Formats: sequence, structure tokens, C-alpha cells
Amino acid sequence: NALIEFNDVSLVYPNGHKGLKNINLKINEGEFVVIVGMSGAGKSTLIRSINRMVTPTSGELIVDGEDILQLKDSQLRKVRTNIGMIFQSYNIVKRMSVLRNVLAGRLGHTGTLRSLVGWFPQNDLQIAMNNLERVGIDEKAYVRASNLSGGQQQRVSIARALTQQPKVILADEPVASLDPPTSHKVMKDLKRVSREDGLTTIVNLHFIDMAMEYADRIIGLRDGNLVFDGPIEEVTDQT
Ligand code: ADP
Ligand code: ADP
Repeated sequence: NALIEFNDVSLVYPNGHKGLKNINLKINEGEFVVIVGMSGAGKSTLIRSINRMVTPTSGELIVDGEDILQLKDSQLRKVRTNIGMIFQSYNIVKRMSVLRNVLAGRLGHTGTLRSLVGWFPQNDLQIAMNNLERVGIDEKAYVRASNLSGGQQQRVSIARALTQQPKVILADEPVASLDPPTSHKVMKDLKRVSREDGLTTIVNLHFIDMAMEYADRIIGLRDGNLVFDGPIEEVTDQT
């Protein structure tokens, strides 16, 4: 059954630019979906609509049973605790330790006030350490994040997203800043941990070959339109 459902979703930016045009799309629980398209096609807009970092201007966008376009801020916050985000630029706090960065994934569970004074329950520490181990950087737990390579920093952000224990992971160009061998290693890790946790994962990539290697399903965008949606076997004649 669909965990995420776009029904005729459009997004017009304040300057009049149409970022998304009448998108219809259903994404099932546990799917690993890759969105491809040229720069400016609307990939980022589509992915950021799902946690309402950008807000579509019409249509219905169901996430885990709720139309998020209808939610008030307080309700939206709750939905967002179920959605982990991974960005091209890692978005980690470089002066903090790796472990502190990963613990940030617990904020929605533990509460900001207690975590502000540096207190996290033992259980949170275990979850965070376990996730660092799963992406192979547990030995770096007490190192300042700024001392890590790009690939390692992106693993920190994967571990942080997992530590949130979300249902959905949104990854907006997660490997665009990494060299090709590192990109593949990071994509492999992301796919493996998503599978292990049964997560629904949506990833933007701009290389079709990489998409074909990792996706269960590929969605193609062009000028804000959904122009392809299918399993990888069907991609070849579209490219
Ligand atoms: P992609 O991720 O595929 O590169 P984006 O979703 O970032 O594409 O952008 C889709 C289109 O919307 C682009 O033409 C972009 O310039 C435009 N766009 C993105 N953000 C804004 C904004 N805040 N205001 C106006 N246009 C925007
Ligand atoms: P990304 O690389 O994440 O797709 P960009 O680098 O294209 O984003 O854009 C960075 C910021 O500028 C985003 O907040 C995006 O919404 C905004 N933006 C992008 N294109 C436009 C545009 N044509 N007009 C106004 N804002 C834009």
C-alpha cells in the first residue's frame, strides 16, 4: 500500500515559475525510488515537497495517511519526525563530534531542552553508536566532524537519519559532491541500511547509470512534469 501519494500536485514558485506540474505518483512502503532528470527538472522540488520544505500550491500530498498540505505547523512537526533528510552538502555541524551530530537524529524523540544541556538517554547513545557502526564509521565517533572526508561526512548524515528511526528517507543529491568510487560506496550503504530497516527511500541523482544500479524504480522528471515511472528494465529506451 502507498505510503506517499501525490494526487495532481503542482507547485508554482512566488516568481511564477512552475516547479511541479500535475504530478500523480504513488510510492509504496519499502520502495527504493530514484528520481532522475536534468538540472532544473524539479527533482529537488519534488523531494522537498514530501516533508514540506517547499509547499505545493495545489493538489493532495498524502504522507503516511495524512494530507500534509492541510496540516498545521504543530502537526507537520510530528510528520517530519518520521522523515529523515540527507543533503548534497551533508548539513552536519562541523565543529561538533560525529556522535553529537548523529544524536541530533534523536531530537524529535528526546526533546530539545534536555539535549540542549547535552543529555541524551543511554538508549539514544546505543542507537547512535549502532548506526555509526552500520555505516562503518564507529571508530570516528569522538572525532570532530570537520576532520572527516566527504564520504565519511555523508555517512554521518546517513547515520543521523537512521537514528531518527524514520519511516521515510529523502536524499537530495546525496552523492553529487563525491567522487565516483565514493559515490558508489555511499549509495551501496544507503541502499543496504534502507533495506535492513524496511525504509521507504527517495533519492535524487543526476546520473542515469547510477540510478539504474541502485533503484527499484526510477521516476523521470522534465520541466516539472513526470515523464517516466517504471522499473529499471524499462528505462533503456527512454534514455
Ligand atoms: P532540480 O532539483 O531537478 O535541479 P529544482 O527542483 O531545484 O530542480 O528546480 C526546478 C525549477 O524550479 C528550476 O527551474 C529552478 O530554477 C526553479 N526554482 C527552484 N527554486 C525556486 C524558487 N525558490 N523560486 C523560483 N524558482 C525556483
Ligand atoms: P539545489 O541545488 O538544492 O537544487 P539550487 O542551488 O538550485 O538548489 O538553489 C538554491 C536555493 O535557491 C534554493 O532555496 C532554491 O529554492 C532557490 N532557487 C533556485 N532557483 C531559483 C530561482 N530561479 N529563483 C529563486 N530561487 C531559486
